[in-house]
Amino acid sequence: MPRKSPRSKRSGAKPASMPSSPRVRSAPGQSRTRASRAAHQLKGARPADAAAKKQAAARKPAKARRPVTTAPAKKTRFTAPDPVRVAAILEQLRELYPDAKCALNHASPLQLLVATILSAQCTDERVNMVTPALFAKYPDAAAFANAVPAELEAQIHSTGFFRQKAKSIREACADLVAKHGGEVPRTLEELVVLRGVGRKTANVVLGNAYGIPSGIVVDTHVTRLAARLGLTQETDAVKIEFALQPLVPQELWTLFSHWLILHGRAVCNARKPRCSDCPVAPHCPRLGVTLSQ
Ligand code: SF4
Repeated sequence: MPRKSPRSKRSGAKPASMPSSPRVRSAPGQSRTRASRAAHQLKGARPADAAAKKQAAARKPAKARRPVTTAPAKKTRFTAPDPVRVAAILEQLRELYPDAKCALNHASPLQLLVATILSAQCTDERVNMVTPALFAKYPDAAAFANAVPAELEAQIHSTGFFRQKAKSIREACADLVAKHGGEVPRTLEELVVLRGVGRKTANVVLGNAYGIPSGIVVDTHVTRLAARLGLTQETDAVKIEFALQPLVPQELWTLFSHWLILHGRAVCNARKPRCSDCPVAPHCPRLGVTLSQ
């Protein structure tokens, strides 16, 4: 009878079962905990973990859905504006803003001149809060010209840049008294040589106080929309104005500024224009727009 080896005695023992998953060993320089965690992630979370996560998610209040989407521009390169497309934009803006008018409250060309100087780097609403008392205290150009600087500065303080604005108002009004009998002149050439009065202020006064469309007012909204609408590639305010003038009939220059300013505030805002709600969208290449609602 052959002799049994001592190992053969173990054959009746229960064989060691294979582990259901390979044991994770740590690599040199890697702790076992990290290796185990990595393996766990590869295999996916255990059902118990998944259920716990689901319950926790159900307890959490649902996050409000952000209506922000990325909306790539229809075309990314500027091409010369097509007159038919520009006419369609104008028509759409006219329909959208039939009551467009100057947002600065005023009862005379002088008041509008002063209010426009105050509106630099300030909202129209803030200016309209300041001007009633201001116009009551300084009823004409001579009163502004002779104003005590500290008193005028205190009265317009909340509009920002109050020292420079007070200086511009006093100097412009002193020029009006000295050269125009205290009246605001009716030409761009006469207005822009007044101290403290630039082309934008002059265009606002002529277009809105006298109904003379001397130019197109270019502010931050007009600058932004003119670019997005593919009307010009210029970035300097005066160059933008001269690029827009041949595209828009002169009798609409004043209104066109109001339309773009209103549309810029209501729909085509700086950070997230609401292109999906914009009636001008069919005519707009959305140049430079990468994020919209
Ligand atoms: S909101 Fe969009 S579609 Fe409308 S004008 Fe602005 S960029 Fe164009």
